[in-house]
Amino acid sequence: MTLEQLLQQLKFDHLADQLETVCEQAASRELDYREFLSEALQCEWAGRHRRGIDSRIKQARLPWLKTLEQLDFDFQPSIDRKVVRQLSGLAFVERAENIVLLGPPGVGKTHLAVALGMKAIESGHRVLFMTVDQLMSRLRKAREENRLERILAQLSYPKVLILDEIGYLPLSRDEANLFFRLVSRRYEKASLILTSNKSFTDWGDVFGDPVLATAILDRLLHHSTTINIKGESYRLKEKRKAGLLNQRPQMETQPTDDHHEETAEAES
Ligand code: ADP
Ligand code: MG
Repeated sequence: MTLEQLLQQLKFDHLADQLETVCEQAASRELDYREFLSEALQCEWAGRHRRGIDSRIKQARLPWLKTLEQLDFDFQPSIDRKVVRQLSGLAFVERAENIVLLGPPGVGKTHLAVALGMKAIESGHRVLFMTVDQLMSRLRKAREENRLERILAQLSYPKVLILDEIGYLPLSRDEANLFFRLVSRRYEKASLILTSNKSFTDWGDVFGDPVLATAILDRLLHHSTTINIKGESYRLKEKRKAGLLNQRPQMETQPTDDHHEETAEAES
């Protein structure tokens, strides 16, 4: 077999693509055999690693790609850097713990959720992002088609499930029940990252039933970190900077909550 055929048979696609460059570089740097082999395999490995990340990013259906490095902590002091740094170490994923991000619109909840999702993707975890709205229509449809069990199993599979925008629309009792089933399935098995513009005290209204809301919060918050973001909308800041707004908006404030184990809050 030729070298090209060998690479093809072994599915060393990345090395096959880069073969000329890798060989030229080895020659110009006068690498010995061992160093060359290591460089060549490194090239293949890097390509596979990158492809794995790309395919997990695609599967995750993130609304946009944002990183922690792009998050301006100075603008939003109520996001505790230390807590975020700790979360970015991903022990929460290993321990199947949850993250709840609370705060008014525009303060970076989705950004933070996506950025933590990206970290998880980079270190090899499967992530899935959906709005609660999308989740509900998926679950309702699944039930109509008698596939609820299968879809619930599918949704239990990603190591991190990001559910964005709880509380923007109130859920019916029936939807709240479906939500409860999903939370119970994932409880102590895989992480949820939730964002909400409603404080926990308002979740009774969101789920249309205080008993069900308590049961949901109980599982959700048992092993969890809550970040309560208080402050100004980043979107408005950008508009103001562009001269489109001149007045500081009146932001609704989030009541704090002490139901959960670890709370990261600071006054903004
Ligand atoms: P929320 O989900 O809380 O409504 P988003 O996460 O969608 O807010 O943030 C709105 C926009 O502002 C996004 O484009 C996001 O990237 C940006 N943004 C929000 N907070 C910050 C921040 N602290 N630093 C940099 N960009 C931010
Ligand atoms: Mg959002």
